[in-house]
Amino acid sequence: MAATKTHAVPVIQAAFEAGMRDFGENYVQEGVDKIVALQQLLPNHSAHWHFIGPIQSNKTRLIAEHFDWVHSVDRLKIAQRLSEQRPENQPALNICLQVNISHEPSKRGCTPSEALMLALAVSQMPHLRLRGLMAIPAPLAESASEQEQQAPFLAMHTLFNQIKSTLPNNTQAHFDTLSMGMSADYQHAIAAGSTMVRIGSALFGERT
Ligand SMILES: *Cc1c(COP(=O)(O)O)cnc(C)c1O
Repeated sequence: MAATKTHAVPVIQAAFEAGMRDFGENYVQEGVDKIVALQQLLPNHSAHWHFIGPIQSNKTRLIAEHFDWVHSVDRLKIAQRLSEQRPENQPALNICLQVNISHEPSKRGCTPSEALMLALAVSQMPHLRLRGLMAIPAPLAESASEQEQQAPFLAMHTLFNQIKSTLPNNTQAHFDTLSMGMSADYQHAIAAGSTMVRIGSALFGERT
């Protein structure tokens, strides 16, 4: 997935024309403006839009109306609102639960044990489709070993397998996504089983 926050529509259009099909945005209004603009430039295009930023409950309607995926669901109230506000004529909204895997105080994401309860609840919501888990591990020192770098991603993979085996049968098959890895750590994430990396600066250069 191309993480396109702060990058203008022509940059996204160029990435689309180069074959990129999945785009992630962090801020609701910025994301919606780009979705609408790309729709006008390339009607019937086949891009998928992922919301990957923090979610305030007064912004859930715009997210539910415009995005295809949300990777940053970390509490029940947000999931309920997204399900209620997803328009009837659109397919179910794909959901990943964000887990605070490095146990950082005051960081986004639910705890691993909350993730299991949240997964069971979201898997039953009519307008949501539970797809997997997302994490942003704490950055480590350059001197950290390969093993230390991979540890949080391996912990996510283990949690993913635990949750998948606990889900009701009819929702297990869709639970197929481990959204983890960014420009600085995607190799470790992939080695640990990531199925979707979210890449910004390595594709587009440093953000200003
Ligand atoms: C910005 C962002 C990325 C991409 O970060 P880079 O380090 O530029 O690759 C990925 N995931 C989330 C949630 C982000 O906010």
